[in-house]
Amino acid sequence: MNTKCLIIGSGPAGYTAAIYASRANLSPVLVDGPQPGGQLTTTTTVENFPGYPQGVDGNQLMADLKAQAERFGTEMHSGLVTAVDFSKRPFAVTVSGMDEPIMAETVIIATGASARYLGLPDEQKYMGMGVSACATCDGFFYRKKRVAVVGGGDTACEEAEYLASLAEKVYMIVRKDHLRASKVMQQRVLSNPKITVLFNTNTLGLFGEEVLEGAHLVEYRGTEREQLFDINIDGFFLAIGHNPNSEVFKTYVDTDAQGFIKIKSHSQATNVDGVYAAGDVCDPVFQQAIVAAGTGCRAALEAERFILNNPL
Ligand code: NDP
Repeated sequence: MNTKCLIIGSGPAGYTAAIYASRANLSPVLVDGPQPGGQLTTTTTVENFPGYPQGVDGNQLMADLKAQAERFGTEMHSGLVTAVDFSKRPFAVTVSGMDEPIMAETVIIATGASARYLGLPDEQKYMGMGVSACATCDGFFYRKKRVAVVGGGDTACEEAEYLASLAEKVYMIVRKDHLRASKVMQQRVLSNPKITVLFNTNTLGLFGEEVLEGAHLVEYRGTEREQLFDINIDGFFLAIGHNPNSEVFKTYVDTDAQGFIKIKSHSQATNVDGVYAAGDVCDPVFQQAIVAAGTGCRAALEAERFILNNPL
């Protein structure tokens, strides 16, 4: 299979790139990856995507974006990218379940990032029923409730502060005796009367009949001072970092220390001419659906221009 533009990933970045690339007559092919529709399919209502005054179901939003991309002729493929060869154009991309690699004049990597979880069995059980990895997405549902944020970095502090503006009580569960976050963020959470930071504390499990009701915690685990205790909470927010899904591209594409794909200034271009990145896989800072969609648009416009200037 040959295509002018191969898009890898099916979140807001991938589908937006597909809408633009197909309207530019690039006849794009999109490979959807392990979680078709991306991270938004794991949330309930998305209330901060412009154009939906009443909010929109995450799955519905992604289905609409997909339909819009298909309407203009994007060819959809289910599968995982297992290998790439970006050493020469056309680029060769191997996809699970396909006999031959897809040969692409340009590639847009929009594989997103995956929130890190603690690995507790209960995290999956209460997913969408109290457990979340995105305070900006789901915090609103915890107005006047009690919540906990796990992590001690800048994200955890920002999320705790945001949640404190909505919730009645916010705990921060921090495994060390100090916060990793910047000083200014530390000061903000430590001086916020609604936030209690539980230092030297780890989560052992979650409990609740149908929805989340609380967490089992341990302070000073493995020491003489070890102490088990519970907190009653309605929401449990993970903020222990995201892993960009960039592993399969790293032989060719430059990434930063955390694995986020490096892009050029004012561009979505990677270090490989004709290969672009969009969305969370290249965004360590914002990680919002609308930002991902915007960068998907940029990547497709750049791919179109690149093909015009570099015909094969
Ligand atoms: P970080 O890696 O900075 O912090 C992760 C936090 O989670 C740390 O406190 C870490 O603990 C904790 N953690 C990791 N794994 C576990 C675990 N298994 N159990 C319990 N706790 C765990 O990630 P962030 O997402 O906070 O930030 C990523 C980058 O983005 C950073 O460079 C940050 O500065 C930046 N950022 C900047 C912002 C801003 O400037 N406004 C806003 C948000 C992020 P420990 O410290 O013990 O390792």
